[in-house]
Amino acid sequence: MKAIAEKETIRTITTHYIDGAFVESHGREVMDIIRPTDRQVIGRVTLGDEEDTRRAIAAAKRAFATFGRTTNEDRSKLLRRLHEATSARIDDLTAAMIEEYGGVAQFAGQIVETGVNAFREAEKALQEMPLTRSWGKTTVTLEAVGVAGLITAWNANTLFIGLKLASAVAAGCTVVIKPSELSSLQTQIFLECLHAAELPNGVCNVVIGRGDVVGAELVRNPDVDKISFTGSVAVGQGIMRDGAETMKRVTLELGGKSPTIVLDDANLGQAIPTALVMAFMNSGQACAAGTRLLVPKKQLDAVKRAIVEAMRAFPVGDPADPKTAVGPMATQKQYDRVQAYIRKGIEEGAEVLAGGEGYPEGFERGYFVKPTVFVNVKNDMTIAREEIFGPVLCVIAYESEDDAIRIANDSRYGLHAAVIGTDVQRARRVASQIRSGRVVINNMTDDPQAPWGGFKYSGVGREYGRYGIDPFLETRAVLES
Ligand code: NAD
Repeated sequence: MKAIAEKETIRTITTHYIDGAFVESHGREVMDIIRPTDRQVIGRVTLGDEEDTRRAIAAAKRAFATFGRTTNEDRSKLLRRLHEATSARIDDLTAAMIEEYGGVAQFAGQIVETGVNAFREAEKALQEMPLTRSWGKTTVTLEAVGVAGLITAWNANTLFIGLKLASAVAAGCTVVIKPSELSSLQTQIFLECLHAAELPNGVCNVVIGRGDVVGAELVRNPDVDKISFTGSVAVGQGIMRDGAETMKRVTLELGGKSPTIVLDDANLGQAIPTALVMAFMNSGQACAAGTRLLVPKKQLDAVKRAIVEAMRAFPVGDPADPKTAVGPMATQKQYDRVQAYIRKGIEEGAEVLAGGEGYPEGFERGYFVKPTVFVNVKNDMTIAREEIFGPVLCVIAYESEDDAIRIANDSRYGLHAAVIGTDVQRARRVASQIRSGRVVINNMTDDPQAPWGGFKYSGVGREYGRYGIDPFLETRAVLES
């Protein structure tokens, strides 16, 4: 791999972005940034502490006094500037995503673009959203909720920051962002974009740091009115619990164990490659990954053959190579986690059809795992119930359409699902019975104005377009006598 062979200087990040300026960290803890393809230290970041966080919250609170009263047109202008500034750095943001956590080029470019376009989409949604309604002597207005803490996961940094910041700015909120500390190089580029967009001071502040330090301060601080969080169920539950103390509004975008239902009229030659794309996107480190593949029992042998054939199109490799489908896991912790689940699957009696434990041959220097497909999986096995967050697919056989729907819904998660079949009416009927925030029919597709979010343990609230702006608004009614 070319990137590995090059001799590089170690990059250092020692600042946060507070009140419109890059400021030296008050926190002193230094964390190494490790490249997942070869475990080399490529950077060092100084992590913020509670004091940095409180300074950022104070700046956001001061800025809210005026920003909360801006017009739609004022905020639209800022969204356009943010879109322009981030669009100019798409290549840099993508390259950083590939290097910093091994996001594959195939996917990283799309993710960064969706994140950048979130500003344009929020502007569009804002133009179409009536923020005032009146009848008789009553006027109802939607007002910015106040200071928002935006806490994000590492696996698609620009997307999460883009979605949350765009919605908050559209609503008139000021923010303190705490990105995942595993995304510091990507965040640094984003901060340069933010600075170039020349937002009024204090509207957007960013503190890089640990969740249990910076994130926890945002959650408990009484001057933060809302938390919008993307991450794991366990941390989301803690945020909901701890946020209750100061009556925080919360949006939680959490995990998934998404089903892909292949109906018995599907063309397996198309359905199986599509299902594998959904399972292995972002090397399986995606909340929406379709990790449970539900197939008709009577077609199981044909499905297995189709999977073995289709796996050739999912090579492991250098994430920078556009031909690579599966890159390394982001961290040692992620690598260990995926290995532990593969072992668990074998112990519980599932059969390895492809992949398995250990490193793929020739990829021992990084956190690479083998894309793995299990067959003979029962929906009550650990590998079918828990989110693995790696390229591990469970094939589960069903008896009938009703059985498929039952298995799909027999999960604590409900984020995303897919239905694949030739008869579209039938696929729609099945889709309408899936308890998930999004169901796609016949392929992985996106609509930037369609809501994103989860049923059940997959979360609370929605993002994207006007659905994303709503949770940053409060409703006030003024009644005249
Ligand atoms: P995580 O929950 O460990 O961390 C997410 C963020 O929360 C990080 O910024 C982290 O520093 C912070 N955090 C940790 N402890 C905290 C605390 N006590 N208080 C406040 N903040 C705290 O998750 P992760 O490993 O970064 O991401 C993977 C998870 O995110 C998976 O479960 C995945 O499904 C989920 N995810 C969901 C979506 C979605 O849109 N629904 C998208 C991407 C990822």
